[in-house]
Amino acid sequence: MLLIQNGYMVDPKSGREGKLDILTDGGKILQIGEGLSKPCQECEVIDAKGLLAAPGLVDVHVHFREPGFTHKEDISTGAAAAAKGGFTTVVLMANTKPVVDNEETLKFVLERGRQTGIHVLTCANVTMGMKGQELTDMEALAKAGAVGFTDDGVPLMEESVVRKAMEEAARLNLPISFHEEDPGLIENNGINRGKASAHFGIGGSPREAEITLVERDLKLALETGAHINIQHISAKESVELVRSAMQYSAMQGRNIHAEATPHHFTLTEDAAIQYGTLAKMNPPLREEEDRLAIIAGLADGTIDIIATDHAPHTAEEKAKPITEAPSGIIGLETALSLGITVLVEGGYLTIKELLRKMSTNPAALYHLDAGYLAEGGPADIVLIDPKEKAVVGSFASKASNSPFVGRELTGKVKVTICNGKVVYRDDAD
Ligand SMILES: [Zn+2]
Repeated sequence: MLLIQNGYMVDPKSGREGKLDILTDGGKILQIGEGLSKPCQECEVIDAKGLLAAPGLVDVHVHFREPGFTHKEDISTGAAAAAKGGFTTVVLMANTKPVVDNEETLKFVLERGRQTGIHVLTCANVTMGMKGQELTDMEALAKAGAVGFTDDGVPLMEESVVRKAMEEAARLNLPISFHEEDPGLIENNGINRGKASAHFGIGGSPREAEITLVERDLKLALETGAHINIQHISAKESVELVRSAMQYSAMQGRNIHAEATPHHFTLTEDAAIQYGTLAKMNPPLREEEDRLAIIAGLADGTIDIIATDHAPHTAEEKAKPITEAPSGIIGLETALSLGITVLVEGGYLTIKELLRKMSTNPAALYHLDAGYLAEGGPADIVLIDPKEKAVVGSFASKASNSPFVGRELTGKVKVTICNGKVVYRDDAD
């Protein structure tokens, strides 16, 4: 048993908040109430004075690189990074090697996930070999434990394939997530076409590459009724497209969802100029107007999910020239503090709204028993000091490809509890 005393509980799902203690037993929350006393001698007590107690965070967009690219990250180090960031549930993307288009790889990933202290789940691929042509056996993959489908990393170009995949996802009642970037319009990925591409003297990646596919997939989602998730939105036009489609879909039960990453709501293409490959990601960081549109979308509910797109790469890989280095940055260990610093301190979201987009909403889309605090619910809890400032430095991830190193951020994860067990504790003080 574990008793969390003196904290300020915030449950974004029920809206309940206040000075409430939480008692866990095994993997479940046994009791929530005022002034709970220690029920047994051996019972562990955590003093959460001055801390927020929130549901363990849920990230539905991470790359743990196993199997195939474990020089960048593996499921065990990825899970450690997640726990340090306050996450107790993650959903892996399927662009590993081999890819997750088959039950064998899916089962391997889930088994490796079970050896960590947190809940590691995974999407399966939409198409065989991520080639965009032939659908995977989505039903068999769902039965084997896939919580959703995606070819994240490689955009789906064939409209008929996307339609069929959405119909199948709708039939299976599972979400399908889309990386929206038409490669036909991109000269160099990861760098915005505009000021940043001009700086590097390259063609870059124009916003139209994203907008055209977002438009196509919103239309298909409204037609098929599939629960779709537009991943890592980067352009203001995409936010506006999602806003109108979402309002339309809300009439028949919202089936359109969208993610923003912390880097897209924090940085612009100026970061690419300043940090080079450490700020190269797909889709790229764009302009200040785009960043503000993403924040407005988060504030009015158009964008209901914050996901990191945690994408580890080695220092050697990121040391390559701008057009050759791989795209992506790590995100699990900075996500919450970027949310508090940019969105809460910025006055755009309350802490409860931020936590909802980082736990309750993504859990709901992927039908996960997570993202809430209630008696009988999972004992997945994060204790946060919302005021403490810290400089981004060392990482539990194998990788350190982050443009945020050296930046002072507000809000620190102090303790992460998963299944009633402490999986991370901040030893700094
Ligand atoms: Zn992606």
